[in-house]
Amino acid sequence: LPTHRFTYTSAAARVIFGAGSLQHLVRETELLGARRALVLCTPGQRAEAERVAALIGDRCAGVFDQAVMHVPIETARHAREVARELGADCAIAIGGGSTMGLGKAIALESELPILAIPTTYAGSEMTPIYGITEAGLKKTGRAARVLPRTVIYDPELSVGLPLKLSVTSGINAMAHAAEGLYAPDANPIMSLLAEEGLRALAAGLPQLVVRSEDIAARSQCLYGAWLCGTVLGNVGMSLHHKLCHTLGGSYNLPHAETHTVILPHALAYNAPAAPEAMQRIARALGADDAAQGVHALAAGLQAPLSLRELGMPYDELDRCTDIALQNAYANPRPLERVALRALLENAWQGRAPG
Ligand code: NAD
Repeated sequence: LPTHRFTYTSAAARVIFGAGSLQHLVRETELLGARRALVLCTPGQRAEAERVAALIGDRCAGVFDQAVMHVPIETARHAREVARELGADCAIAIGGGSTMGLGKAIALESELPILAIPTTYAGSEMTPIYGITEAGLKKTGRAARVLPRTVIYDPELSVGLPLKLSVTSGINAMAHAAEGLYAPDANPIMSLLAEEGLRALAAGLPQLVVRSEDIAARSQCLYGAWLCGTVLGNVGMSLHHKLCHTLGGSYNLPHAETHTVILPHALAYNAPAAPEAMQRIARALGADDAAQGVHALAAGLQAPLSLRELGMPYDELDRCTDIALQNAYANPRPLERVALRALLENAWQGRAPG
């Protein structure tokens, strides 16, 4: 039996979960004491933001629809300026990780509380991690103040998320839970959430392929995404997340797709050093082996399986290995050049992990 020894701090976010829960938006903005909320979205989700604005009526200060991937510093400054000019006392972020990121950039330098309405499975709304890109370099940090105060999870809002993005976003979420199970600061509470999050997504994602507007399946996936995002926000990530960060940052590869391709290979790499975590991942997936189980799930969902198809140049694999070796971070298995290069080779080719 394990002798537990851990530190556990729980964040005080308020979560409203369920199909149709957007109807509680007015009540939730009132509970935050907000009278002038600025609604944030990407240009593509303007319609959803307008719907939010209409729901809160004269409590809406305006809509800022310029959220983009990786939060460029110019966009963050512009949004802060708009919030100030409009006298906003709250920001409502509706969208995926990019829109959450913009909300966090505002909260980082103001007192504005964030109300998050996630429409993907990235999980950013549950983490104190923020990222801002300046002069082509994405800097990330942690600050409790960027955590949204209230999160409304309404599965009906993710029905419009295209199936391909739903699948990769779901596997992106699973990556948080998988790495959380072997985190250096793992604790039994987060491990429970991780295993349950993996189970929910492994059950929900295949149902989306059958019928992408199935609310029960959307609900499972969003529930899983919440749990996985909580794990990401509470324990440290390792090889998988660092590799994806390097690939995304240095080669501008798409976020969720990159996570999808790398995850089985990162798990195969770490498997010998983290047997208990692998057992729990496999159990959640109903598979015999964690890495093969994730690979089979992704293949069954017709997700991208190779870095090649994401546009990663083959002749950059050596340099990518070098970058991955430069960064020091905790990982169950030490970073070994030959094995890492083999991991990237397998991922580039789209082979089964091994
Ligand atoms: P995203 O937010 O960039 O969204 C992708 C696209 O899908 C956008 O155009 C968006 O408008 C659209 N979209 C989102 N939901 C939709 C819906 N329901 N219907 C139709 N279209 C919809 O993608 P993402 O994968 O959610 O987030 C990726 C970004 O978030 C990356 O920059 C990543 O680094 C960051 N991230 C940060 C954290 C963190 O903890 N800080 C965690 C996860 C991801």
